Amino acid sequence: MAWDFSTEPEFQEKLDWVERFCREEVEPLDMVFPYAVRSKDPRIKALVKPLQDEVKAQGLWAVFLDEELGGPGYGQLKLALLNEILGRYGSAPQIFGSAAPDTGNMEMLAAYGTEEQKKRWLHPLMNQEIWSAYSMTEPQGGSDPRLFKTYAERDGDEWVINGEKWFTSAGRVADILFVMCTNGMFVVPRDAPGVEIMPEPRTHNHIKYKDVRIPLDHLLGPEDGARTLAQRRLGGGRIHHAMRTISQCKLAFDMMCERALSRESHGKVIAEHQMVQQTIADTYASIRMLRLFVLETAWKIDNTSTQETRTDIAAVKYTMAKVLREVSYNALHILGSLGTTNLTPIQAMYASAPHMGLADGADEVHKVTVARNVLKDYEPQTGLWPTEYLPAKRKKAREKFEPLFARNPELRELADAYAKYIARRG
Ligand SMILES: Cc1cc2nc3c(=O)[nH]c(=O)nc-3n(C[C@H](O)[C@H](O)[C@H](O)COP(=O)(O)OP(=O)(O)OC[C@H]3O[C@@H](n4cnc5c(N)ncnc54)[C@H](O)[C@@H]3O)c2cc1C
Repeated sequence: MAWDFSTEPEFQEKLDWVERFCREEVEPLDMVFPYAVRSKDPRIKALVKPLQDEVKAQGLWAVFLDEELGGPGYGQLKLALLNEILGRYGSAPQIFGSAAPDTGNMEMLAAYGTEEQKKRWLHPLMNQEIWSAYSMTEPQGGSDPRLFKTYAERDGDEWVINGEKWFTSAGRVADILFVMCTNGMFVVPRDAPGVEIMPEPRTHNHIKYKDVRIPLDHLLGPEDGARTLAQRRLGGGRIHHAMRTISQCKLAFDMMCERALSRESHGKVIAEHQMVQQTIADTYASIRMLRLFVLETAWKIDNTSTQETRTDIAAVKYTMAKVLREVSYNALHILGSLGTTNLTPIQAMYASAPHMGLADGADEVHKVTVARNVLKDYEPQTGLWPTEYLPAKRKKAREKFEPLFARNPELRELADAYAKYIARRG
């Protein structure tokens, strides 16, 4: 039986270890020293290293790379299950060396970098000696890459980049920026002359690239290959993101159920009110459906390829955004006024839920991809009526039975009686 929804015991043991480790070590560190991984203070950094050493000892450091890219080749299904745990704890992806946007950038480097480029950037990124950001979106256009203008001009043994980027997450604190130009993907040191980071927005940065000069070997992959490289960033990464989203949904759900059992109104605990029960039941089913969809998509990638799973990867992208919006809203609502404060994680989760529908591309763009791909398997109807037009189907079926009716007229009478009944029923 090929469809088996269980996890093999040895990997389950690993997952149990990760769960315990995140709960007992990662979360407390996060509560007292948020963003410790990126801290410049050596005393805080010293608290991170022992945790990362434990992760390395478990063989779980930076496990997102496929075998052909130099990683352990866990496959997307196992990585999905791992990310389902990591997503619950803010800094866990970084403690495990698997945090975006570095992961996507490392994938590009691993797949397209020369040996020299890997040595220069991939290995230090992998060891968190440096950090990166991804500069694609521009102020005048995000969803449509044909509107991008940033361009690298060759001048002797240098590229000269001019353009403007918008919403480069963590660009301000990155050491290198992966800049998507209309003629290729370039790696730009953040401190290169001409890189100008605007004061706002604070986290997702507006960056001007004015006559930024970089050596020729800072072009990653082929000239004009930026869109292919950009695609490379997104395959498995989206599945990991989706599983981290599910763990956020699960966190919201846990909080909602606990509260529903703890709070009273109109003579009973609110979990006994039918409308609250309906919300709990619907939310439960939404999370379960999303989880199955994501895991099946991960399984499909492992058993076919990212390319062949493109439609489902895109469908996962907007479905996870929708489920997160719905679940975080439901949880906030059941928590009542407490849910609207920043005293639990729910308010921040709800406030940032719409981000998911935009980051990595607006939902609509992915829906267009899904609809187009799905429609390739269909043909327009022939003639006036759809294939499932019942009178035509009945007529055809009747023709199939004619030889039998010729041998057995009683059966024809029975069929006629049925036909009359159906016609009367309308
Ligand atoms: C939290 C977060 C982090 C991000 N991080 C990065 C990053 O690190 N680097 C980076 O380069 N970018 C980043 N982005 C930007 C992201 O890639 C863009 O927001 C996204 O591509 C959409 O572009 P836009 O915001 O310019 O929206 P627009 O392109 O202006 O679209 C606005 C709206 O128009 C509608 N629309 C657009 N196109 C279509 C269409 N074809 N069909 C139907 N409706 C359409 C949709 O409703 C869409 O939401 C991030 C965004 C978020 C929210």
